[in-house]
Amino acid sequence: MTNIPRRHAALDMSPDEFRRIGHSLVDRIAEFLTWIQDRSNPVTRAERPGQIRSLLKSTPLPEKGTPAEELLSQASTLLFDHSLFNGHPRFWGYITSSAAPIGVLGDFLASAVNPNVGAFDLSPVATEIERQTVRWIAEMIGYPASCGGILVSGGNMANFVCFLAARKAKIPWDVRKEGMGEERPGRLRVYCSSETHTWIHKAADLFGLGHDAIVWIPADEKQRMGAEVLRKQIGADLQRGMIPLMVVGAAGTVSTGATDPLQEIGAICREHNLWFHVDGAYGGFAASLPEASADLKGLRDADSVAVDPHKWLYAPLEAGCALVRDPKALPETFSYHPEYYRFDEHADEGLTNFYELGLQNSRGFRALKVWLALRQAGRGEYERMIREDCAIAAELYRSLASHPEIEPLTCNLSIATFRYVPPGLRGAEEDGEEYLNKLNTAVLARLQGGGKMYPSNAVVQGKYAIRACVVNFRTTLEDMLGLPELVVATGREVDAEMKRVKTPA
Ligand SMILES: *Cc1c(COP(=O)(O)O)cnc(C)c1O
Repeated sequence: MTNIPRRHAALDMSPDEFRRIGHSLVDRIAEFLTWIQDRSNPVTRAERPGQIRSLLKSTPLPEKGTPAEELLSQASTLLFDHSLFNGHPRFWGYITSSAAPIGVLGDFLASAVNPNVGAFDLSPVATEIERQTVRWIAEMIGYPASCGGILVSGGNMANFVCFLAARKAKIPWDVRKEGMGEERPGRLRVYCSSETHTWIHKAADLFGLGHDAIVWIPADEKQRMGAEVLRKQIGADLQRGMIPLMVVGAAGTVSTGATDPLQEIGAICREHNLWFHVDGAYGGFAASLPEASADLKGLRDADSVAVDPHKWLYAPLEAGCALVRDPKALPETFSYHPEYYRFDEHADEGLTNFYELGLQNSRGFRALKVWLALRQAGRGEYERMIREDCAIAAELYRSLASHPEIEPLTCNLSIATFRYVPPGLRGAEEDGEEYLNKLNTAVLARLQGGGKMYPSNAVVQGKYAIRACVVNFRTTLEDMLGLPELVVATGREVDAEMKRVKTPA
């Protein structure tokens, strides 16, 4: 027999060492959190891949180890100096939120205990915390607390889980056993607006329907799905022998924050016995506001809803959540009972094994950061943070209208879109539009590269737009009201350069 002496595993750490190194890391993170809130520091240094790669050097996998203290010091310097800081008060790009500090600590605690939240027996308290978190999320948005649900890595995965539940529930044969079988491609139909996030492409493709199954209902001038068009399209498809499965409505589209007429869409789905799914990855949590529109609150009628705690709940990445009205829908879609898992002895006590409710097997404890943040702020303060984000975007939109060189385009929830229009180009013809698209593309690139403020882009009815999305509890009205001026100054600069190139003197 091999003699294994008392082990000194390189990866283990004595409690004293852990305490010392851990404290100094926490100190550095606290300094970092102070640093990013200083408005004179950049949101990003906009470095290119080559610059970053050269920092890491192309060394082979090290043969020998390096002390942990040195590594953590190096890694924090690397991250603090070469990242894009979505926790900076002037970051308004995409829909990536600032991370709640309690979530940072929650992740730390979660990985220290390291429960495997695939099965109750492996994660007794963590499983119950996830169940409670799911229920609170449902309560927050006004969805029935009797629903089923699971935390996943983000909005895409949450939408996938719901899509798979719909597919299982509505395909009129045993799809789990037979797969897509001989089905003629394109006969199964999934309806959504032309503004739907690209997860729908991946879902239709990866889950066997093919993206020909997607029926794009054109969005109207307010970027919303036309309910009448939807109704007619479903009627026509039924006449042609198609098999409509589901309708996807948006509670806040990714590019302009528009909300589809969810109440009407829900009614159409009930009429035709279709699955009604709502993609609320961005806007779902705004349904918690008492003043939310009836359309937005219409997500309560859905068979499934995807929301994204790493957006408006300010959880650090990653956290998404899939909710289904009928709690049986998830096990009916995902559950298998192989011999080597004997976790179901207490099934009659309402025991939850999350591996049966989604795609993952071993699962991390992503619920903890969400659960802690929900408790730290409470419902009232969450509503206030979301309401203030929306109010700041609305104020920006109002102020944009008073700048003669800015054309405001849309404002929904906490997203405002607009573009820079040089004097004389207002209401321009076709070629003017082409120039404006090029100009605004260049203006946005310069804004993002400059690092002072970080908006992103949208295309609104063919117009290339600059888009400010506030999912950031550190942004003040003052921060935001500096944006129009910076856009105008940058716009003039870029316009002058582009005209100089076009007509050399
Ligand atoms: C962000 C978003 C998604 C994708 O979510 P991820 O968390 O990035 O996977 C899907 N739909 C909408 C409407 C979104 O805003």
